[in-house]
Amino acid sequence: MAAKAFWLEKKLEDMSREEWESLCDGCGRCCLHKLEDEDDGRVYYTNVACQYLDFEKIQCTQYLTRNQLVPHCVVLQPEHVAQFHWLPSTCAYRLVADNQNLPEWHPLVSADTKSVVDAGISIKDRVHNELDINMDDLQEYVIEDFL
Ligand code: SF4
Repeated sequence: MAAKAFWLEKKLEDMSREEWESLCDGCGRCCLHKLEDEDDGRVYYTNVACQYLDFEKIQCTQYLTRNQLVPHCVVLQPEHVAQFHWLPSTCAYRLVADNQNLPEWHPLVSADTKSVVDAGISIKDRVHNELDINMDDLQEYVIEDFL
């Protein structure tokens, strides 16, 4: 009998560092600026990404020091699962935390890193660099999907 995939078998906090890192599909959605409604706490995604994103590879160019450069950049930790509600509904960390399986386009399932782009999940070629817009107008860039 084939072994169960680790993300179906293990809790986030029991995963090795390698397993944890491999869950990230590289969509880049968490690198987008979000706005939170002060009244009801609802989170709105914008199509404006952090300046430290590599817009070709959709990878953080300052991964190890991102927290110092951008203090509000959240470093995901298994023990903060309860706060994952702001992550996009497609995010593997949120899915696993909710005991759901990974989708077919996830690289761990498809064995193809391009499947995230092909499935329209990646933010590649769809977003603005924060340096190219007036951040005072961020509200104008709110998008409806992702959550
Ligand atoms: S939203 Fe989740 S899966 Fe996508 S890049 Fe961020 S951590 Fe990775």
